[in-house]
Amino acid sequence: MEKKYILAIDQGTTSSRAIAFTKDGNAYASSQREFPQIFPQAGWVEHDPIEIWNSVQNVIAGVLIEGKIQPEEIQAIGITNQRETTVIWDRLTGEPVYNAIVWQSKQSSSVADYWKAQGYSKIVKEKTGLPIDSYFSATKIQWLFEQQPELKERAKKGELLFGTIDTWLLWNLTGGQVHMTDLTNASRTMLFNIHDLTWDQELLDLFDIPSSLLPKVGSNTEIFGYTDASDYLFFGQRIPIAGIAGDQQAALIGQGAFQVGMIKNTYGTGAFILMNTGETAISSEHGLITTIAYQIKNQVIYALEGSIFVAGSAIQWLRDGLELIEDASETKHYCESVKDSENLYVVPAFTGLGAPYWDQEARGAVFGLTRGTNKAHFIRGTVEAIAYQTADVVHTMVQEAKVPITLLKADGGASRNDFLMQFQADILQTTVKRPSFLETTALGAAFLAGLATGFWQNFDEIKGMYQKAETFEPQMPQEVSDNLYEGWQEAVEATMKFKHRPINKK
Ligand code: ADP
Repeated sequence: MEKKYILAIDQGTTSSRAIAFTKDGNAYASSQREFPQIFPQAGWVEHDPIEIWNSVQNVIAGVLIEGKIQPEEIQAIGITNQRETTVIWDRLTGEPVYNAIVWQSKQSSSVADYWKAQGYSKIVKEKTGLPIDSYFSATKIQWLFEQQPELKERAKKGELLFGTIDTWLLWNLTGGQVHMTDLTNASRTMLFNIHDLTWDQELLDLFDIPSSLLPKVGSNTEIFGYTDASDYLFFGQRIPIAGIAGDQQAALIGQGAFQVGMIKNTYGTGAFILMNTGETAISSEHGLITTIAYQIKNQVIYALEGSIFVAGSAIQWLRDGLELIEDASETKHYCESVKDSENLYVVPAFTGLGAPYWDQEARGAVFGLTRGTNKAHFIRGTVEAIAYQTADVVHTMVQEAKVPITLLKADGGASRNDFLMQFQADILQTTVKRPSFLETTALGAAFLAGLATGFWQNFDEIKGMYQKAETFEPQMPQEVSDNLYEGWQEAVEATMKFKHRPINKK
C-alpha cells in the first residue's frame, strides 16, 4: 500500500495531539486530548505517565479513524514533547515508580539550591549550557531518590529506567524494546555534555545517578525503533519511529529556521524564543540558555534560548482576573480602538522578571495612569508588554550571538493577534512572519521522521506549506519605536525598585 502519511505525536504539558501529514506538508487529520494535571502540593505539578501514554494511544486511534487511515499507509512516526519532565519506570514490568515530575514543578528546588550553594553553577553551565534549576531533570531524579532511597538502590542494580516523555513514549510504542532519546531532550536534563555530546560522567558521579538509568542518545532524525508488532494500536504494523525533538526545538525546525541568526518565538501561555547560532555553542552572560537546536546527519546545531514567564497568561489575567474581556480574541479590537497606549506601561512581572533582568522578587506594576486611561489603553498596554518582553530577549540574543536579526518567526496561540504581530515588528524594527498553520511543533517532528525515511529529501519539499504565511513589516518610524522601548525599559527599572513584601496581617 502506498505510504501517504507521516504521523506526528505532540505530547504537551496539558494535552496530547496527533497529526497526520501528507507529502506536501499538509495536516490531513488530527486528534487532541487533554489529560489531568496533578497538584500534590503548592508549586508541585505531576502527570500520571500511564494517563499520558493512554492519551497518546487515544489520539493516534483518533487520527486513524478521522482520516480513515490504514496503518500500512503511514511511512513513519515523529515524536515531539514537553521537555525536562521526568519519568522513572521498572525495566521489566514497565511500571512507573512515581508520577511524571513536570518541568515547571518546584519540588526539587531544595536540590537545586544545594548544588548552587556548593558552588557548582559554573561547571554545570559550562558542561550543560544550563543554570542549576528545578526545571531540569537531574534535580527531579535526585529529589525522587532522596524521598525514596530504595529507588536509588534499585537504580544502582540496573532495575530502573529514566526517560523524558519522548523516551517514555518510544519505549511504550516499541513494546519495551527501545530505551533512547535524542540530543535536544538530553540537553535539558542537566546531565548531558552539550560539547562532547555524551552523558557527563563527572556530573553523574556528583549527583550520584547511575548511568544504567539513562537512555542511549540519538540524533533527531534516524530510525529509533519500530512499533511493536504484537500491539493492537497499529494492527501489527511495524512502523519506524524516525524523528524525535523537544517541543521548542521541533518548533524551530517546523518554522524552517535552519540559518544562523534565525529566531522563532512561540507566543503561548509563556513564550519561548530560540535563535539558531549554527555550529557554535554561545555561552550567555545574561541568563539565556545554551542548548542543542538539532542534529541532522552529522551536523550539530546550537541555539540560544530565552523564555518569558508571562505572555498569553497576561491575556488570561485580563480575562479571568480583571474581567476586562470575555475572550482572548477581543484584545485585538481593543488594541486597535485607541491610537496608542497613551504612555501607559503594564509590566506583568507576576512571578518575577526573567532574561535579561533576572529579578525573582519583582512584582508587576502599571505606569503612566491618567484620568483619561481607559480599558482599551489598559488592554493595549498588556498586549504591548508581550512584544516588549520579546524585544528584551531578542536584543540580548543579538548582542551575545553578534548576528543581526533579519526575521522573527512567530507561532503559538497569542500570535493569532494581528495587532501584537504588527507591534512586535514595529518595536523590533524587523519583519515578523506568522505561518497560517500554527502547529509548527508537530510539523517539525513530522519533518524529522520524513527526512529519516526518505518521505522528504529536504525542507524545501514542505516549504510550500510554511510559505502560506502572513508577513508584518515595521511601519513605525525608528525614533517612535526607540522612544516607546526606552519607556518600557524605564518602567522595568522602576518595577525592580518596588519589592514584594509580606503583608502585615496584624
Ligand atoms: P500553550 O501551548 O502554552 O497552552 P497556546 O499556544 O495554545 O498555549 O496559546 C494560548 C495562549 O494564547 C493563552 O494564554 C491565550 O490567552 C493566548 N491567546 C489566544 N488567542 C489570543 C489572541 N487572539 N490574542 C492574544 N492572546 C491570545
